[in-house]
Amino acid sequence: MTNPTNDSIELLVDLVQRDSVTPEDCGCQALIASRLEPLGFTIEWMNSGGVTNLWARRGTASPLMVFAGHTDVVPTGDANQWSSPPFSAEIIDGYLCGRGAADMKGGVAAFITAVERFVAQNDQHPGSIAVLLTSDEEGPAIHGTKVVIEKLTNRDEKIDYCIVGEPSSTTKFGDIIRNGRRGSLGAHISVHGTQGHVAYPHLADNPIHRAMPALSELTEVAWDKGDEHFPPTTLQISNFNAGTGATNVIPAIASIELNLRYSPAISIEHIQSSIESLFKRHNLNVTIEWKDSARPFITQQGTLCEALQSAIEKHTGSSASLDTGGGTSDGRFIAPTGAQVVEFGPINKTIHQIDERISCRDIETLSSIYEATLVTLLER
Ligand SMILES: [Zn+2]
Repeated sequence: MTNPTNDSIELLVDLVQRDSVTPEDCGCQALIASRLEPLGFTIEWMNSGGVTNLWARRGTASPLMVFAGHTDVVPTGDANQWSSPPFSAEIIDGYLCGRGAADMKGGVAAFITAVERFVAQNDQHPGSIAVLLTSDEEGPAIHGTKVVIEKLTNRDEKIDYCIVGEPSSTTKFGDIIRNGRRGSLGAHISVHGTQGHVAYPHLADNPIHRAMPALSELTEVAWDKGDEHFPPTTLQISNFNAGTGATNVIPAIASIELNLRYSPAISIEHIQSSIESLFKRHNLNVTIEWKDSARPFITQQGTLCEALQSAIEKHTGSSASLDTGGGTSDGRFIAPTGAQVVEFGPINKTIHQIDERISCRDIETLSSIYEATLVTLLER
């Protein structure tokens, strides 16, 4: 038996020292594959468009329990502002510092060592275990988890449970499990008018004047009240551009960017048709390009949430609450397959920041929590 303490941190140091700024992987996944293969995992590379994707599975039976994550990290920003070089993985006062330490190489290291210990103890476990890794989570996320899930779906390989090791903890390690995410819908809207001289407005048609009352109404819409898991849907206008640069010209076009974060209480089709008919009511000539970047999902209280919650309670003494806040994650690609999907990992306070770090003790505990969850779900 290896010592869970040193093992997770040793692996994390090795991962953080690889400067895998998205979409690079820098050998992180090959290192992990070389540890999983001797344990009886079948290694499949599902690389796409310059992105490294690993699907490693042990066993063929169901239920299939998946640990998912990403090996890419966001850029460091000015490296001189870091207390220690961002890819040196130095341990300072019990914290391992470096880009990706919390988001999310910490989660990855913890679940790999958890799987190693579980398999060592339960060689003949029922069901299957798989590890899904991508190097395209922090980037456009087009060639990553999405591609792997498409391949699995095409060959009828069904995931039952999935833990994404993203940093979900907020104020205290173990306080939050994310059991869903809001959807994200963007729109680029062009309001068309007729260009002209400001002194001759009757010969022009000002798209700014036309757009204003419609946009004002749009910001007042009460989309829904949310539900027991989700806050109400919100709409934000993030850009409004018009003008030719000259002060005496009425422009031909005004362009608007907006984004909605929405709950499953409302459908994307309903949002789109409401916005289209609002513009129609205001007699606007518009073209709209929609960007459907994430559909909402929710994993109800059930087998996976309960197994994870009791493992957290056992190892931290605190009860984790279920929450759907935050931005999007790769869980959005896995949940539509019908899998129970949650995100659980270390404290997210320093992610994407200068001096990103993770508590060494939390990493050990996290690995024990993942292992205990595997025991509940798959032990014979
Ligand atoms: Zn992440």
